Amino acid sequence: MDKTARKMSARILIVDDVASNRIVQQARLSAAFYEVTLAQDGATCLAMVQDHRPDLILLDLGLPDISGLEVLQRLRRDPACGDIPVIALTATGTAAERLAAFAAGADDVMEQPANERVLLARLRNLLRLKAESDFPAPDALAMAGLAEASAVFEPQATIALVTPQHQTGETLREALAGRLRDRLVVLSRGEALAEIARRAGRDTLPEVYVLEDDGRNPSATLRLLSELKSHQATRHAAVCVVGPAGAGDEAAMAFDLGADDAMGPGVSAEELVLRTRGLLRRKRHSDRQRARMQDGLRLAMRDPLTGLYNRRFAAPQLTAVAERARAEGAPFAVMVMDLDRFKQVNDLYGHAAGDQVLIEVARRLTANLRDTDVLARIGGEEFLAILPRTGMPMARAVAERLCHVMDDEPIRIDSGEALRVTVSIGVAVAGTAGPDSFGIEGLVEQADLALLESKGAGRNQVTFRLSAA
Ligand code: GH3
Ligand code: MG
Ligand code: MG
Repeated sequence: MDKTARKMSARILIVDDVASNRIVQQARLSAAFYEVTLAQDGATCLAMVQDHRPDLILLDLGLPDISGLEVLQRLRRDPACGDIPVIALTATGTAAERLAAFAAGADDVMEQPANERVLLARLRNLLRLKAESDFPAPDALAMAGLAEASAVFEPQATIALVTPQHQTGETLREALAGRLRDRLVVLSRGEALAEIARRAGRDTLPEVYVLEDDGRNPSATLRLLSELKSHQATRHAAVCVVGPAGAGDEAAMAFDLGADDAMGPGVSAEELVLRTRGLLRRKRHSDRQRARMQDGLRLAMRDPLTGLYNRRFAAPQLTAVAERARAEGAPFAVMVMDLDRFKQVNDLYGHAAGDQVLIEVARRLTANLRDTDVLARIGGEEFLAILPRTGMPMARAVAERLCHVMDDEPIRIDSGEALRVTVSIGVAVAGTAGPDSFGIEGLVEQADLALLESKGAGRNQVTFRLSAA
């Protein structure tokens, strides 16, 4: 469904065969400003999901036509609505029914009548988690093969069991070991925090945190939860609370603090295993979505052949460098570089060989510029470098070095031939003539004119211009 057409309030579908249940839920959710639709059986639910994709479904498991479990399974099999959050509601609440619902893909299972505060907090929480992992995926990305890869080869995860007392953590670990293929580590709260500080920025931190609460100090558990959810290194990890802090009003608080799940003290090991697996699956789904979006951004500013920035990205960079230069009062340089007689490479060795040469040229240019310099491919065989804090003498040295690193060593192409490739360079320096000489107006044109002079004077050389103003 078109995400831009999404209304401000989330749409909740209530599926229940008991009219009074539907009416009570509808009243509560409408009062909380959700847009509510109702279905009285499984078939109606499935049809309504197709028609107007809800943002979340409250699904009674005891339906007259198709069982709630079957409805859930069908939803999960359909890629178009497989990630709509579902809270399953059960009248009986047997352990077996809960397990079956989690196994079928429920995000949570609650007993009827559900605690209103917890239900609303859980709703907000699931809607927020969904919004965070719901990045718009332009069709172009999907066509470029960047659609989410199927999760066939899931690597083993590290799951941290954070406990106030080591012994209960070990008991928990024993209960889970053998049922999860992931690495389970028992940590104290202090150790969990120390580990973040030590390993921040690396990706070896746990992907799931199970915070065990022993009821003595629930607010300490919730504090740790909120630290994990706000820390840069762990905010994308899934965090769940198990124990008294995961039940009743405390659970509502946990959800509002960003918990991905919360379970009361009585949860069975089997249920904990299923829910932990669900957490990991959803966490990895959002990781992949995020990576796709970053790939999209990268594609938008990179040239796919060389990996250098593209022309579109270079323009705002030039503005930014010029502004900083003016503020610092330090000159900066721009260089336009064009390969000499490059058409001949294509004509003699083929386009693929030409591409190889371009890739190697880009590599050599990158290797001979600083990390703070901006290098872009602005045309077929034309490159632009922006060098902050660079005056005339340094610009000259750099440009001459770039000429030499091309000319000194031929480029070997796949066919085995070694090609001599040279480059002509035009350089313009801004900011050497006082506070009014930092303008970028005409700067690249000056460098272009200098480049033309280099070409006219026999190629494989550098020509300079000082900025006019
Ligand atoms: P000059 O020394 O005057 O710059 O001569 P030149 O041959 O380099 O210049 P011209 O502009 O005539 O030719 C540029 C060539 O670059 C033509 C084009 O086929 C080739 N080219 C542009 N982009 C690519 C590319 O992505 N891959 C390959 N293989 N060739 C490219
Ligand atoms: Mg050329
Ligand atoms: Mg050219």
